[in-house]
Amino acid sequence: MNIFFDVDQTILGMDNSLRPGVHETMSGLKEMGHNVYIWSGMGIRRETVRRHGLECYVSGLYQKPLYDYVERLEELGLAFAPDFVVDDDPQVVSAFGGLWVPPYYKQGDDNGAMKRVLAAATSFATNGYSDDAHFRARGDLRPLVRA
Ligand SMILES: [Mg+2]
Repeated sequence: MNIFFDVDQTILGMDNSLRPGVHETMSGLKEMGHNVYIWSGMGIRRETVRRHGLECYVSGLYQKPLYDYVERLEELGLAFAPDFVVDDDPQVVSAFGGLWVPPYYKQGDDNGAMKRVLAAATSFATNGYSDDAHFRARGDLRPLVRA
């Protein structure tokens, strides 16, 4: 699968710290044969990826659409759609399918979200579904709440 991670408040806090578990989850996904991409509404985040040593997992960096999500992929240089996204913005998760993560603001905020990402992506890749309450299939607009 092509798995896309958002940056701000998904893997990166407002204090520029990396959410715990990001290395383990990205390397686990890569080992299982998935492609990991990083995208951001703030543009191409090469510096963030370099600073936190994530280059070895990442197959590409893209700008994330902030509206008309699916329709604007081609305009933003994406020749393929994500199979699974990880984002703190519920709308992005509903548009593409994937796992919503509660926003990560600063060091010490950890809530085990990255472990849930690995489990949900693995389940989705295998069964086409995850029973994680934060999982949404593409186009599923049911509201997301913390659980
Ligand atoms: Mg975000």
